[in-house]
Amino acid sequence: MSRVVAIVNQKGGVGKSTTAINLATYLAQREEQVLLADLDAQANATSGLGVSTHDSGCMYDVLLEGRALQEVATHTDIPGLHVVPSTINLVGAEVELVSELAREFKLKRALDRMPEGLYTRVLLDCPPSLDLLTLNALAAADEVLIPIQCEYYALEGLTQLMRSIRMVREELNPGLQVGGVLLTMFDARTNLSHQVAGEVRSFFGDRVFSAAIPRNVRLSEAPSFGQPISLYAPQSAGAEAYSAVAEEVLHRG
Ligand code: ADP
Ligand code: MG
Repeated sequence: MSRVVAIVNQKGGVGKSTTAINLATYLAQREEQVLLADLDAQANATSGLGVSTHDSGCMYDVLLEGRALQEVATHTDIPGLHVVPSTINLVGAEVELVSELAREFKLKRALDRMPEGLYTRVLLDCPPSLDLLTLNALAAADEVLIPIQCEYYALEGLTQLMRSIRMVREELNPGLQVGGVLLTMFDARTNLSHQVAGEVRSFFGDRVFSAAIPRNVRLSEAPSFGQPISLYAPQSAGAEAYSAVAEEVLHRG
């Protein structure tokens, strides 16, 4: 069975897509077979991996047309990494799903129908809200990975997120775990970063990855070249940090 990881935080701009792209890449480079499903209509994970628009289908077709994930998955420049692309069609998905039966379980059904052994890990890049698409991700996931930006207001909204996760556990997916919390855009020179990191670590304990992702300009440049950091700037501090996180993910098992 593949391990399904939802990358969730209803705040925008905290590093979800950057984490999805680069964690997926480093896991694939360590022999995993990875499927990255892009659930955000903004399609940052799709374009950030250099995947352009696709006649072969997208996440919308999986959620609303019942198409198979492996059918719409497209390969990337990274061996072992496939992407289920997002397109602008996803904008309407949220509204269209509302009237569907078992609307929270569309993605779960699609994952259940996937042939055994195709992928060892599935990463879900979620939109910046707790909408039906994110609920689909939470209902389908074994664990959530929460990126937290080391900035003011970072912790605001976490209570709501944890409440949603609890509700999902009660109503949709009893086995859902908080698998990891990742500090992003950490700036070692500022007190604020250290303060946020301290608070997050005291709240989440050892679920916080020991590697924090530094604020790193290479990480913000890479998507405009459609490349993960391992191709764009493999020696950068951002690359080292995401590589270390992938290592931790593998060790946690
Ligand atoms: P989200 O998916 O949560 O909205 P993104 O991953 O798209 O967040 O990141 C938001 C913006 O910040 C993007 O422009 C991205 O390139 C940039 N960014 C993400 N992580 C870092 C980082 N560690 N250092 C510098 N810029 C980053
Ligand atoms: Mg995003």
